[in-house]
Order: sequence, then structure tokens, then C-alpha cells
Amino acid sequence: MYNQVSMFSKHEDKCNECHQNSVKECCNKCGEGLCLSEACCQTFPHYNNELYILCNDCVTSIETKLRPTSVDNCDLRLLKKKISKRQEANMKKLQKPEQKSDLEGEHDS
Ligand SMILES: [Zn+2]
Ligand SMILES: [Zn+2]
Repeated sequence: MYNQVSMFSKHEDKCNECHQNSVKECCNKCGEGLCLSEACCQTFPHYNNELYILCNDCVTSIETKLRPTSVDNCDLRLLKKKISKRQEANMKKLQKPEQKSDLEGEHDS
């Protein structure tokens, strides 16, 4: 069946990503033809059971746009870790004098 389709699709556009398979859908962002294979595009569930299709180019461009915010999130997480570690250190500092005073108390008695 697919062989027949490709026979008839000589003049059809080829997928903009793999340049081998014929175009089945278009990228919803840039409009480039895509063969819908997983290697060429990413599909996302969309309204009315439709698929939102993005070619690899658009996916990478979106990912690079998203990257700074994800880095920010990582930094925030690291900051929180640092803060909690600092708090732990403070807690230990607070606990140590108590232990010392306990020991001192033992020496005194
Ligand atoms: Zn393709
Ligand atoms: Zn695209």
C-alpha cells in the first residue's frame, strides 16, 4: 500500500526533515511538510483530538527558548538546597553549644 502511494507521489513534496518519505502533515509552526515519523517531528495532543505537529527545527528552537527558564529553575533548586544546607549548618551550630554545655556541666559536677 505504501509502495503504491510512493509510486503516485513522485511529484509530492518530501518530508522536510528526512527528505525521503512523502509529506503527510505540515508543521503547525513553520508549515514545512513532514512525514510524521517520530524521527522527523514531535506530535502533541491538541484540541478536538487533533495533533499539534512540530518539525524538529521548531522543537529545537522552542527547546532553546525554554532552556533559560529551566536553568533558572535548576538554579532556584540549587539555591534552595544551599539555603537548607545553611539552615542545617546553623541548626548544628545551635546544637553544638548545647552539647558542649552538657559536657561542661558534667565536668563541673
Ligand atoms: Zn521525515
Ligand atoms: Zn516547523
